[in-house]
Amino acid sequence: MSRRVRGSIKLVNCASCGRRVPRDKALAYDRVTVYSTDLKTNDDVRTMLRREMHYCPSCAKHLRLYEKKANQMARRAHSGWGQQDREAQDRWGTNERFGNSDSA
Ligand SMILES: [Zn+2]
Repeated sequence: MSRRVRGSIKLVNCASCGRRVPRDKALAYDRVTVYSTDLKTNDDVRTMLRREMHYCPSCAKHLRLYEKKANQMARRAHSGWGQQDREAQDRWGTNERFGNSDSA
């Protein structure tokens, strides 16, 4: 889509099937992996890792990742995850050029 402005784009491997896709074509989906010892005591060690995985369009469609990604972004918009983006969006939404109108 926007490849023509940027020259060559790096290829990424699809996390599901291993296909090589251009980075701007692949779907980047954040996966949260939890490593835990499950000791239920104070010695319990627990780490959460957020990893960005890339999927080719066909795998993303098959795994319904487009919908999941939309949900993920919606959740982030409500939580304080991307605070600056959210504020920018709020300002953009209250822009007056959409409010008062001389439309027919
Ligand atoms: Zn794939």
